[in-house]
Amino acid sequence: MALSLRGVGKSYGKIQALDGLDLDVPRGSIFGLVGRNGAGKTTTFAIACGFLRADRGSVNVLGAGPFDAARHRGRLSALPQDAALGRDLTLYEQLSYLGRLQGVPRHEIRGEVERILHLVDLSDRAGTRTRTLSHGMLRRLGIGQAFLGQPELVLLDEPTNGLDPNQAHSIRDFIVAQRGTRTIVVSSHNLPELETMCDHVAIMDGGRVVRSGPISQVTGRNEEVHIVLADGPVPLAQTQAALAGDTVEWDASARTLRVSFSSRPGRQAEDVIGAALRPLLEAGARISSVSRGQSLERTYLAMPALPPELPKQGRN
Ligand code: ATP
Repeated sequence: MALSLRGVGKSYGKIQALDGLDLDVPRGSIFGLVGRNGAGKTTTFAIACGFLRADRGSVNVLGAGPFDAARHRGRLSALPQDAALGRDLTLYEQLSYLGRLQGVPRHEIRGEVERILHLVDLSDRAGTRTRTLSHGMLRRLGIGQAFLGQPELVLLDEPTNGLDPNQAHSIRDFIVAQRGTRTIVVSSHNLPELETMCDHVAIMDGGRVVRSGPISQVTGRNEEVHIVLADGPVPLAQTQAALAGDTVEWDASARTLRVSFSSRPGRQAEDVIGAALRPLLEAGARISSVSRGQSLERTYLAMPALPPELPKQGRN
């Protein structure tokens, strides 16, 4: 695992921010961290980076125990939620300084800074001062600095927050292009965005992980097929007969047939879709869309909320 937290607790005075958090981030994954405001995502990042110490539980970063500057220097980096960069430094000076802190050798720093500026589309700003950047440019600089020196584990707290659609898209492409080269943990409230980038996800609530795993598993991509029908016939009985052994339900308000099945060799989502479409088309049903599982957003919204009193009262 790139990051493993077990039973981690953290309070700020009376506020219990983390309450027995268990989190496993597989090496090489692009891992999404989801949760409502105050769920504990930023606190989790801060503990992983060593900005904060856990009150209880164990933290293992890159198999070398809790964050330790000597052991983890250059191996881990982060984009904090409110990254503060030196306002009077130029972008080049800023990245050179941070690159040196990350352990980039002096003779490699120029090339490394140029690589990063190019990656986040700020090459033409190398000589300008940080304070003259727009919010979105600052965000891109913050993301870029997190990749200085090729760290093994990168933690990005809401990286695309405040970016225009084109920039958000290119940052997503950039993150996806890193797949397999390092582990990236991304927190975001933009669930469709996380779904396109991430292969694993953990949903947090009340300072705990309430669901986690590969996205396909969490969203039921290998267990459910959804078929949306336009106005017209709804041949439910024929579909049920054609899919004996599976569960076929009709949600009238969403005009959606939901097929739940057990995936096995020879019986994958594609086979279920084929078997379901035949009786529907024969009966003249008009098909608007077919999808596997539900979106991450629907999965998230359908989850029962923790009672509000659970997370909030600390133990001290
Ligand atoms: P968001 O999505 O709003 O960024 P989050 O999931 O990152 O939220 P945290 O910032 O980790 O959540 O906050 C978890 C809890 O800890 C919240 O109840 C918050 O009010 C509290 N908290 C966070 N930082 C502090 C602090 N410095 N002092 C006191 N309480 C804090």
